[in-house]
Amino acid sequence: MSTVFLNGDYLPMEEARISPMDRGFLFGDGIYEVLPSYQGKMIGFDLHMTRMNNGMASIGIELGWDNARWRELCDTLINANGGGNLALYLQVSRGADTRRFHAYPENVTPTVFAFTFEIPAEPVADKSRVAYRVVTDRDLRWERCHIKSTALLGNVLHFQQGYQQGADETLLFNERDELTEASACNAYIVKNGVVITPPLDNHKLPGITRYILLDLLRKDGRIPVEERVVTKDEVYNADEVWVTSSSKEVVPVIAVDGKAIGNGEIGDVWLMAQQIYSAGKYDY
Ligand code: PLP
Repeated sequence: MSTVFLNGDYLPMEEARISPMDRGFLFGDGIYEVLPSYQGKMIGFDLHMTRMNNGMASIGIELGWDNARWRELCDTLINANGGGNLALYLQVSRGADTRRFHAYPENVTPTVFAFTFEIPAEPVADKSRVAYRVVTDRDLRWERCHIKSTALLGNVLHFQQGYQQGADETLLFNERDELTEASACNAYIVKNGVVITPPLDNHKLPGITRYILLDLLRKDGRIPVEERVVTKDEVYNADEVWVTSSSKEVVPVIAVDGKAIGNGEIGDVWLMAQQIYSAGKYDY
């Protein structure tokens, strides 16, 4: 039985209850984070906190917690849940009002909910890694994808579209057939040894794994990195395609829409990048 945190209490998941008037439930009016922890060591804690605070500020949720308070919560949940390979899920919704009214209510207390879930052991930097096969779709989400909102129906619909076809992820493209990201990951291509990923804007989540990976690659210097527009043709004709997220790190993609990427096998640039990521990730 897992232990969760809800509004100040640690309790068994089965006993956690929120009001059906919570705006997280009614409107998806909240912000969340997911961060990985292996054997009690979190990756990117401060970066995740900064993104969550930015998200709360951008939608006017005032919680007033400092990082030390979040860290104590995370450490307590990690210990209470066995401290193995865990992702921490942290969510703050605007809180429960007495009526359903779109405008922000005054004097409601934000709902803070956190739990852990098991994730696979730390990804290995070798070619035994299970690669993804993905499909593509037109990005039909909203214009505020930079906010890590709990309102994820757009992402869910895109993920489901791929899932129903047996795909592991769905790569998303705007109306000009330019890559934005995937339904729950950031996306990259490799061409002639260069890692290329679309620049951040309001159509992409500023992924923490993306930040750490690009920073580590630039500091290492062996693999050049470019942030620029990537077209659908470039994806199909790439030497390698990758996606990243906190719980998966850097995932090689070997097929897009049923077409093999490169020679249809995990690439050498991925291998070096994952090795660099594995060696440096705990510095964040
Ligand atoms: N893009 C989307 C839409 C996501 O949902 C996620 C993670 O859940 C990411 C990108 C990757 O972000 P991070 O590396 O911070 O996990």
